[in-house]
Amino acid sequence: MAERYDVLVVGAGPAGLAAAQAAAGQGARVAVLDAQPRAGGQVWRHDVRHAPSAAAARGIHDGLKPPIEWLAGTSVVAAQGDALLVQTPQAARWLHYGNLVLATGARELLLPFPGWTLPGVVGAGAAQALAKQGWPLAGKRVVVAGSGPLLLAAATTLRAHGAHVVAICEQAEASALRGFAAGLWRWPGKLLQAGRLRLQLAGVPYRGGTVVQRALPAADGCLLRAVGIAGPRGTERLACDMLAVGYGLIPNMELARLLGCATQAFGAHAAVQVDARQHTSLDHVYAAGEACGIGGVDCARIEGAIAGLAAAGAAVPAGLLRRRGHARAFAAALRRTFALRPQVHALASADTLVCRCEDVTLGMLDGHADFRSAKLATRCGMGACQGRICGAALAELGRFPHAGSRPPLFPARLSTLAHAEPAS
Ligand SMILES: Cc1cc2nc3c(=O)[nH]c(=O)nc-3n(C[C@H](O)[C@H](O)[C@H](O)COP(=O)(O)OP(=O)(O)OC[C@H]3O[C@@H](n4cnc5c(N)ncnc54)[C@H](O)[C@@H]3O)c2cc1C
Repeated sequence: MAERYDVLVVGAGPAGLAAAQAAAGQGARVAVLDAQPRAGGQVWRHDVRHAPSAAAARGIHDGLKPPIEWLAGTSVVAAQGDALLVQTPQAARWLHYGNLVLATGARELLLPFPGWTLPGVVGAGAAQALAKQGWPLAGKRVVVAGSGPLLLAAATTLRAHGAHVVAICEQAEASALRGFAAGLWRWPGKLLQAGRLRLQLAGVPYRGGTVVQRALPAADGCLLRAVGIAGPRGTERLACDMLAVGYGLIPNMELARLLGCATQAFGAHAAVQVDARQHTSLDHVYAAGEACGIGGVDCARIEGAIAGLAAAGAAVPAGLLRRRGHARAFAAALRRTFALRPQVHALASADTLVCRCEDVTLGMLDGHADFRSAKLATRCGMGACQGRICGAALAELGRFPHAGSRPPLFPARLSTLAHAEPAS
């Protein structure tokens, strides 16, 4: 018999957990699934050494409280009608829904520059995730670079796990950062958080208007040993064992695109378009959190609660809508402050690898009018990450807009693909 839920939530981050809690509170039969084995999404990712914050523990507990069904380690790989094909490490099956909430979150934007494929260079959020999973960092010299508040969060986690954070190189100009800080009084919770981060990062230089131009290998040419940076003081070389670099976040759009949800521009990228009740352009499909644009954990929670109520057919209190407006205003201020400068777009040269899965350089893409043509001729975007990294980078660099999604969304077993039709 087919499994059917009144409300099926994809993503057990802050948005999905809030949606599940709100929908279950209305008496709906709710399931929340996530590709990860533990709930929490990115910001509440499990840390092997440190206990979760009170907010994370409460959010996870309330979002998975029975009778909500928690489907851990479950990836959505395809969709048809009112059903999703999901895969666990053991099996595959179709899940049917009355209403679907997409809370698929965001991922880091990684941009190519000379040396970015050297061992020792990782994404800023990836470095944070590695630290939380127990990657040995004690005494390692780490440069954190790129753009956005995630750099501060990542640096804090790395330090808490014993790394020596050499510097945080933020591409946004110092004047923009000062203006942003001066306006934080409008969001007292964020002001408090910023003060806490400042204390936790005491002694770590935070350098505005500074970009990493290249990652430099040791004499044997293998491992990272230093980075070349450019900023208001000119160019410098910083010795390090690890570079954690990311240029902000972009929405995870694969499932929304596969379903056919209308999208809206999010810089050079896209986000799911929703109305006041977090309803997408499709009947029975809602979306919440960073899939709708990058807004931070508070915005994700509020949008999740609205989507959960709406998906369960309940009224949405005006207070929640007001709080979402306030949270989105913070998101807009973040976007203005951390908008990428042209210097960042010019870091890669013709011989810089852009598709690291298939060894394709930026110069090899010259003359191709779109991503499809580039793929056919060079295999760009056809490797293990399926264009998740290079596709986003090329969109950001203004080369090609991001292409659509095709099933399977994640690498799938042949036995999974054999479940081609949903049971009714
Ligand atoms: C790498 C990284 C690190 C971050 N660290 C911080 C931080 O330290 N502090 C902070 O304030 N903010 C951080 N953020 C921002 C943070 O993501 C948000 O503020 C908040 O977590 C957004 O919540 P969300 O529920 O929208 O998405 P997320 O927390 O991203 O949750 C989305 C979930 O959906 C799941 N998912 C996506 N697609 C599928 C699919 N097809 N099948 C199954 N599951 C799927 C993912 O596994 C994920 O768990 C980070 C973001 C990233 C990308």
